[in-house]
Amino acid sequence: MAHSEGSTGLPSEPDLAADVVIIGSGATGLPAAIAAADAGASVLVVETNYDVGGHAILSGGNVPLGGGTSAQRKYGIEDSPDMVFYDLTDWSVVQVNGSPDYRYSDRAVIRAFADHCAETYEFLLANGVEFKEIPPDSSGAHSTGNSAPRENHAFWTHGAGLASPNGRPGTGFVRSLEAGAREKGVKFLLNYKMTGIIREGSADDGNGRVLGITAKYTPTVLPGNTTPLQSYRSKGNLNRTEANLTIRAGKAVIIGTGGSTSNVNFRRMFDPRLTDVYQVAGEPYTFQDASGELAAMAIGASLWGLANQTLENGDNIRVQRALGTRYNYFPWDLNSPIFPLVRAAGLAVKDWHDLILVNQVGQRFYDETKGDYPGGNKHKDIDPYTPGDHRNAHIEYDPHGSNFFNAAVAMNAGSKGPDYSGGPVWAIFDSDAVAREGWKVTPPHVDTDGYFFTGDTLAELAAAIENPWQAVPMTGAALEATVRRYNSFVDSGADEDFGKPAPKHKIQTPPFHAAWGTPLVHDSRAGLRINEKCQVLDMDGRVIPGLYCGGESAGGFNQHGMGRCAVQGYIAGKQAAAER
Ligand SMILES: Cc1cc2nc3c(=O)[nH]c(=O)nc-3n(C[C@H](O)[C@H](O)[C@H](O)COP(=O)(O)OP(=O)(O)OC[C@H]3O[C@@H](n4cnc5c(N)ncnc54)[C@H](O)[C@@H]3O)c2cc1C
Repeated sequence: MAHSEGSTGLPSEPDLAADVVIIGSGATGLPAAIAAADAGASVLVVETNYDVGGHAILSGGNVPLGGGTSAQRKYGIEDSPDMVFYDLTDWSVVQVNGSPDYRYSDRAVIRAFADHCAETYEFLLANGVEFKEIPPDSSGAHSTGNSAPRENHAFWTHGAGLASPNGRPGTGFVRSLEAGAREKGVKFLLNYKMTGIIREGSADDGNGRVLGITAKYTPTVLPGNTTPLQSYRSKGNLNRTEANLTIRAGKAVIIGTGGSTSNVNFRRMFDPRLTDVYQVAGEPYTFQDASGELAAMAIGASLWGLANQTLENGDNIRVQRALGTRYNYFPWDLNSPIFPLVRAAGLAVKDWHDLILVNQVGQRFYDETKGDYPGGNKHKDIDPYTPGDHRNAHIEYDPHGSNFFNAAVAMNAGSKGPDYSGGPVWAIFDSDAVAREGWKVTPPHVDTDGYFFTGDTLAELAAAIENPWQAVPMTGAALEATVRRYNSFVDSGADEDFGKPAPKHKIQTPPFHAAWGTPLVHDSRAGLRINEKCQVLDMDGRVIPGLYCGGESAGGFNQHGMGRCAVQGYIAGKQAAAER
């Protein structure tokens, strides 16, 4: 790859070219690819990972789409684009903690979503996605609107294995669309990360078109291996291995890079507490590293709807679902092809009475049975519901309610400058708890290299804790005092410190354990400014010609998940293919 760069920044002979170049092969990129190919464009999907799917392939496969889908009609559910629009812009819908679901979303973005929602559902069906034969419901829904059930459920029945990093239902959604895209001639360039977007002229003049991208080779090599991981499907893959490539986009570039939460400095622009101690759902399969946002900003793009990133509802930030492993959103499948990167499956908790959670200096800080932020508005959460009526709001001050994350990150005990990170959260339990839960507390179920520790006494356990994010050693005296006090609450039946309802079990039978239980970041709800066509806008509100974006890298839409991604991918793909 040796090209002289012209005045436009695009070499006269780029390494690759397509009408529409899509960055990212997840919930946005795959629908975009199919929609653009359907409209007659040649399409190249550039994906940094060794395989497709991003967060979408790891997901629960719950896809929020309504507005009058065939599934809603089949089950007699009344819905329409207007109902979706009014639901998702209703300022008066507020969670019990006062956090509004829809107030800070951009109305043009929501209008476009509402108008294309049902159409996208049919498009997904036509391109091989299968949803369970049940009425749309609200299971897994966050901020999907009060007036109708809109959650549809894709599925995957084959477990983990080569086809899937974890065997979760999102695999069905992704593999179907991937197969559909390949059948329609979409090419995939895997193992290449977009490193820059090429635009003619300067960002200041505001007229220059986007001409293409640069990309660098990013193979995934597992520890102890030399051969890069291979994708599940290879037909249609461009097998390139040069260090850097330049790719021309004859019509447009679509950003579907999945957001920014894995980029610690980027996420700290919204919330300075989110230091690097916090992991992100979806890692280590895929990282939301803000590369799409940053590349677009470098050529003049604006960010948008930033308030949505700090709303305390839905699943922007979540409690860990598995203990004793860094990547702890859910227990990983032991057969996952990336298990050597994951390192340990983690321990799923059945009963939060089986443990206490302590900060890095060994103090409890919350009621362990309370978890995430309020889930986000969904069908009939408010009943009766009058759109736009301030009486929809039922704000209650509940000092014990759903502020686990705030308690965890706000702690300054033991924290140090310059970041004053809240530090790790450790689950502390004894061997009786291990028996009650049926846990296996050895590798590969737990990661004994920094995320799971054992001691015959509490003092030994505290002394054993060593982890890159532990700013100060935990003292045995502190942990012993915490456990002694908690055990006294079991005797008295009342948690005087944090109100855990009737603490059930003492922590008393050795060996004792400390398992990583630090909360995680989940969603990007703020990103690039787009219009109703999913065109990216600059800091003056002007369209950047030839640049589109959708999904978690796009701003202006507070809703969890794949619905908005699929719809915006669909819109962007169609619009991009229709460019000059
Ligand atoms: C564990 C988990 C469970 C979930 N469950 C649900 C659910 O049940 N229902 C739901 O609606 N949502 C769910 N979600 C959220 C949903 O998966 C995401 O909102 C959605 O996939 C985001 O789509 P996207 O296209 O923006 O990003 P992604 O689907 O993450 O795709 C982005 C892709 O871009 C690639 N990429 C990033 N940067 C570059 C670059 N510079 N160059 C090339 N490629 C790049 C990434 O590798 C990735 O493949 C879940 C998420 C997780 C992690």
